[in-house]
Amino acid sequence: MDSFEVLLKNSAAAHGHLCPGQAVGVRMAMLGCKLISLDEPTRLDQIKKLIVYVEMDRCAADAIANVTGVKLGRRSLKFMDYGIMAATFLNLETGQALRVISTEEARSLARAYAPEIADKYPQQLEAYKRMPDSVLFRVQEVEVSISDFDLPGPTRRKVTCSRCGQVVRDHREVVKDDQILCAPCSGDAYFENSREINWPDMNWTPDKHATQSPPDRTSQSRGAGKEAKINSGNCD
Ligand SMILES: [Zn+2]
Ligand SMILES: [Zn+2]
Repeated sequence: MDSFEVLLKNSAAAHGHLCPGQAVGVRMAMLGCKLISLDEPTRLDQIKKLIVYVEMDRCAADAIANVTGVKLGRRSLKFMDYGIMAATFLNLETGQALRVISTEEARSLARAYAPEIADKYPQQLEAYKRMPDSVLFRVQEVEVSISDFDLPGPTRRKVTCSRCGQVVRDHREVVKDDQILCAPCSGDAYFENSREINWPDMNWTPDKHATQSPPDRTSQSRGAGKEAKINSGNCD
């Protein structure tokens, strides 16, 4: 793994700004990976072994994702909406799982670790670079039983909602009165009053040569050999 300073610089660039959360997140990721014996989590042979559960959608979450290389689209980043500054690092190969929790004491100790800085956030940022891991974090050994339906790789199950016809992947359907429903149709939606609309310029496509009907089979087969190799790991 790169040094803390390099990781912090990269993660601040990806995140959009340098903030105390980046320092905490980078250190949390470094510690978590170390504790489950993945020293180069972004390397191809290790990236497939790592799952990270982050428990907050705050600045630190971006730093954790950046350092470890876990991604929502790769199914290696799991967002648990607990509002807790913590993340669990799971090594799929060994089953080892460590939950690293950012302490509240670290916040109150920021002044003691960076007394020469007056402003709150610069002071926190500097203090979080200086504090030992033992002040910044608590660590729990935990057991995580991850379902096959949550693992990276091709879609393992698809069903169709009996009410709206939407395909639901990876066992996220709800069965109510023997009916298979998508989460929104089961009443468990984060939105309400949905209705289909048209929108301006709705026939736009990025392909300049595209017609508005599907290409015929001959033009399809002509282009087939030229396309770049496409990896469809988690796409379907
Ligand atoms: Zn931030
Ligand atoms: Zn539905």
